[in-house]
Parts: sequence; structure tokens; C-alpha cells
Amino acid sequence: MLTGKTAIVTGSTSGIGLATAEALAAKGCNIVVNSYGDDTADHQIAADIASKHGVEAVYVKADMSKPAECRDLIEKTVARFGSVDILVNNAGIQYVAPVETFPIEKWDAIIAINLSSAFHTAAAAIPHMKATGWGRIVNIASAHGLRASPNKSAYVAAKHGVVGLTKTIALELAGQGITCNAVCPGFVLTPLVETQIEDRMKEEGLDREATIRDVILAKQPSKQFATVEEIGASVAFLCSNDAAQVTGTTLSVDGGWTAQ
Ligand code: NAD
Repeated sequence: MLTGKTAIVTGSTSGIGLATAEALAAKGCNIVVNSYGDDTADHQIAADIASKHGVEAVYVKADMSKPAECRDLIEKTVARFGSVDILVNNAGIQYVAPVETFPIEKWDAIIAINLSSAFHTAAAAIPHMKATGWGRIVNIASAHGLRASPNKSAYVAAKHGVVGLTKTIALELAGQGITCNAVCPGFVLTPLVETQIEDRMKEEGLDREATIRDVILAKQPSKQFATVEEIGASVAFLCSNDAAQVTGTTLSVDGGWTAQ
């Protein structure tokens, strides 16, 4: 049922975003791949998705820290495909430091990219979804949208904000064929987490295996990373007709973290 739908995945040149773009393309969606660069490699990702899944896919550069570029991403998509049916707000960054030394520019960047971008893209996409009477907005939040950890003030604040934004959008659109939900992954092994593993190995003086088991996955009872493919499949489910009455909620994919 997703064949021919147009899906935008922000921050989709890597990790969860790329796997989500692949999962939606496998369901027949045309895809807008996005990041803030404009390299040949970025455009090649879209070309590879198109040829692998037999859909149309384009790369559109837009820096999710900039409100005008967030909104322009939607308008460029509509100009190219005629609609935006699925919006996955995935772009995100991380920075770890105690509040009192947390750099102001890192706070501002995390709030802009991880939270405000979802407001701007949704605001621009909703009128187009209302015009067709069908839409799916999926925000990639985090277990940190539901629980806190020390030294991640900006990330935890932004992700809690994303969960609140998700519920509000869902209520505003209830009954209009448009749903809004958040996927809340625990730890997923992507470049964003690789950096944390390397930093914590140095801090704790542990080897990689012990750092992953005892530090990174300390709060994740399964002691296993979720995979990017599992997150992509969760997004695809929330975009399906089976999920038409699933709105304003969070889907945790966290190995039991938030059951605690
Ligand atoms: P990643 O670093 O692999 O990918 C992040 C993507 O966002 C990249 O494509 C990057 O180019 C893009 N991006 C970064 N800044 C951008 C900007 N200003 N404008 C446009 N694109 C930008 O990270 P990931 O682990 O795949 O994370 C994806 C999302 O999942 C993030 O929102 C993250 O917070 C969330 N998440 C990740 C985990 C995890 O364990 N990896 C857990 C929970 C939630």
C-alpha cells in the first residue's frame, strides 16, 4: 500500500536514516535522501536506492539546523514528486558533557537539529498531507525521550521535546488520515554510538567488549544493540495501513531499557 508514496527521511546518508530509507523504498516508496553536504557520495546513495528497489530516489541537500532549509526540503520534494506522504524526522547529533561545562553552541545545535527541525518540516509538510487526506509523520526520538542519563542534557531535553511534539501533532491531526508517532530506539550501533564507545573506552580504561557490555549497554537489559534494520522496519510498520489508528504514541525498540 505504500507503492508510489513519497517519503522524506532527514539525515539519511548514514545509520538509522539510511536503513529507514531502504525499508520504505523496499515497500515501494519514492525516496528523498537528505543530509547537509552535497558530495557525489550523497547523490550516489539515492541512485543506489533507486536501482536496488526500482523506485525513484533523489538526494536533496538541506541543513536541519537551519529553519528555512528544513521548510525548503519539503517544498523541493513537492516540486519534484507532487506530494509528501511520509516524513521521517531522523537527523540527529550527540554531545556529552556535564551541564556546567556543556558548550553553548553544542546545546544550540542539538536543540536545532534534534528538535526544532521536526517542528519546521512537519509545519511545512502538514498542509500537503491534508490536501491528499493521508500522511505519516514518524519522529526518531530515543529511549532518551523517555528516560534521562547524566551528561546528555541537550540530547535528553531535545528527545523529550520530540515526544511532546509528536503527541501534539497527533492530536491536531486526529481523524484526518494523518498520524504522528515516535520510534524510541535504545542503543543502535551507528557512527553516532561508535564515537561514544571510543570516548568511554578512553575514560574507563576498558577494552571495547567490556565498554560495550558494562558501560554503553549498562541500561539495556538485552545487552544487545538494536539494528538499524529493526528501526527501519518499525518505521515502515507505523507508515502502513495496519497502523492507521496508532497515533501520538512511542514505539520503544530498546531491549527492555524503558521497562525498568
Ligand atoms: P548517524 O550519525 O549514523 O546519522 C545521522 C545522520 O544525520 C547522518 O546522515 C548525518 O549526515 C545527518 N545529519 C547530521 N546533522 C545534520 C544536519 N544538520 N542536517 C541534515 N542532516 C544531518 O546517527 P544515527 O545513530 O543513525 O542517528 C539517527 C537518529 O537516531 C538521531 O536522531 C539519533 O538521535 C537517533 N537515535 C540513535 C540511537 C543510536 O543508538 N544510534 C539511539 C536512539 C536514537
